[in-house]
Amino acid sequence: MSQFFPDTPGYRQLRERFLQAATQAGATLSEYSHPLTGPFGETLFTDVAWLGAPDAKRVLVALSGTHGVEGYYGSDCQSRWLESLNGRALPDGVAVLMIHLINPWGTAWMRRVNEDNLDQNRNYLDFSKPLPDNRAYRDVHAIYACEQLQGPQRDKADALFNAAIAERGWSGLMSVVEAGQYAFADGLFYGGAGPSWSNRTLRSIVEKHLSGVDVAACFDLHTGAGDYGHPMLMSIVESAYPALDDAKALFGPWLFTLITGANKVSATGVAATSTGYTSQMLLDALPGVHLMPFVIECGTYAGDLVHGHLRDDHWLHLHGDPLDETGRKIKQGLLEQFYPADPDWQEMVWIRTRQVWERALAALPGIRA
Ligand SMILES: [Zn+2]
Repeated sequence: MSQFFPDTPGYRQLRERFLQAATQAGATLSEYSHPLTGPFGETLFTDVAWLGAPDAKRVLVALSGTHGVEGYYGSDCQSRWLESLNGRALPDGVAVLMIHLINPWGTAWMRRVNEDNLDQNRNYLDFSKPLPDNRAYRDVHAIYACEQLQGPQRDKADALFNAAIAERGWSGLMSVVEAGQYAFADGLFYGGAGPSWSNRTLRSIVEKHLSGVDVAACFDLHTGAGDYGHPMLMSIVESAYPALDDAKALFGPWLFTLITGANKVSATGVAATSTGYTSQMLLDALPGVHLMPFVIECGTYAGDLVHGHLRDDHWLHLHGDPLDETGRKIKQGLLEQFYPADPDWQEMVWIRTRQVWERALAALPGIRA
């Protein structure tokens, strides 16, 4: 047994497909070994494929699996795109950098978070400085610390949950919970106490491959927020960045720019209060690069449904066994929230992702550094 469900590829199959597609496309591969293993004893890696001239100064970057379980979508698009190349040459001076499953533990264990129960997209902070203090989360943490999946404790947690919704409204509560918090390692949307393995690994990949380039368009691939089957192209950053006008010119009304901050609100399903995002880290790490950081966020189910499954998976991680019957049922539910089995959904997100990448690829030679 090397996967949770017979009909769904596991981490090992995603990796094998990606490596084969990258090799066939003529990419140069490197791998970053993760210290832990997957649920079936599989060794875990983040794989990096560079396609195109080694000295190319304009790069399209595709990053999958920041949120582990969302890597099923990202990996599928990365492999499909490589497979679809069929010998086609890239535009002159342009390379493609595919970073495959930056949180391989999360993908293998089918969790949104990483091995430290931390949300990788809340972890890109300067830990030498005081961390954001999400005080409001303290009032609702007990909802997520519940030790029962069913029973009187769970009923009590549900009552607390319903009271918090009544007090703050659904989006008000989510902007507290999803903002990220740095005080409870056993809580939801925990941002960590230091740079995670994925954080350190992404920084070294970026330093190695991107610090010397002129222009880059980076796509961080996500699912689980927004309307079902409606991929959103976004820029999620703390403030306007130098290449934002180019990003807007490139995608026009397709692009939604979300500026994050303590009191920001958003109707997109993506938390505007969040701290420690990938995009901001890339901008900070690559001051010499004319960088356009994008997020493709593919909507699945309603926010309260997704959240309910995240709660159950959180319980499973703290108190259950992912491989027993209850555990597999929770995993099946969680995967469906972040990678619906519906082939039309899967095709839709691939078509849109391909369109976005192809438009960026074609435009990269003409963007002034
Ligand atoms: Zn995500």
